[in-house]
Amino acid sequence: MSDDTIPARPLTSARAAELVAERSVADRVVIVTGAASGMGRATAELFGALGAKVAAADVSTAQLDAVVAGIVEAGGEASAHRLDVTDNDAITTFVDVARAAHGPIDILINNAGIAHGGPIDGEEFADAWYAVFAVNLHAHMHLIRACLPDLARNGDGRIINISSTEGLGGTANNSAYGAAKHGVIGLTKSLAVELGPKGITVNAICPGPVHTGMTELIPDEAKATFARRRTALRRYGQPHEVAHMTVSLAMPAASFVTGVALPVDGGMIARNQ
Ligand code: NAD
Repeated sequence: MSDDTIPARPLTSARAAELVAERSVADRVVIVTGAASGMGRATAELFGALGAKVAAADVSTAQLDAVVAGIVEAGGEASAHRLDVTDNDAITTFVDVARAAHGPIDILINNAGIAHGGPIDGEEFADAWYAVFAVNLHAHMHLIRACLPDLARNGDGRIINISSTEGLGGTANNSAYGAAKHGVIGLTKSLAVELGPKGITVNAICPGPVHTGMTELIPDEAKATFARRRTALRRYGQPHEVAHMTVSLAMPAASFVTGVALPVDGGMIARNQ
């Protein structure tokens, strides 16, 4: 028997309670970026509803206070932080403030993102490229570095990076976004290997088409046509459907899952025809 072989244990009420606890994020301290809207909002609210302590960050504060007020109203613990994730100094300060408010960080959700399309020969392309990389990839690195001592302290830290199905394939006129989202998956896999010995898991979620602020300007008819042609479920997803998978990867129960890029896409990647 190797050192990590544990004999099967019968299901007693004590063991059942342990199993339930393994599916709990209660009292874990979580940072969610881009928490004012869409999937970030749904993720912050779900963590809050499940008893996690939520540091909710966004560059836009219009909805952020309402998100945090909702969590507190529902009996949870949360704080709102205005943060531009492209500001490296502000990231360090934010993590210090979040730690002071709730305790050391257990879970980091790198969710904030922007989508700038455009053809490679477009006039604005280079500017869009740098802007997209700053928010969608470089910020992940800075936030991970700022949270790393906390995440490593107990050997059970969790990092979940929000990539996209655009991180698994390509779309014309979307190469800045696609390259950054592929980069998120590369970062995720490399850090999963690097941080595994510290007990930190690093995973990516790849949402498909989801009703959020990012997709609100796409006309309903275009959304319906796309979903019918491309997804197995023939529909767009809702933010909470992604949030549930994100939170699942943060549970103690997900302790042996690391380095994956998980599509949450209504079967879009699976579908050939
Ligand atoms: P959204 O626009 O509703 O939310 C994004 C949030 O990020 C906003 O609240 C915005 O203010 C915030 N944000 C943007 N720049 C920021 C910055 N510099 N600093 C801090 N916060 C910033 O969009 P969403 O769809 O919920 O996006 C969440 C994530 O999901 C993004 O990473 C996005 O790329 C990804 N994604 C979205 C879809 C989709 O169909 N909606 C599909 C795949 C991946």
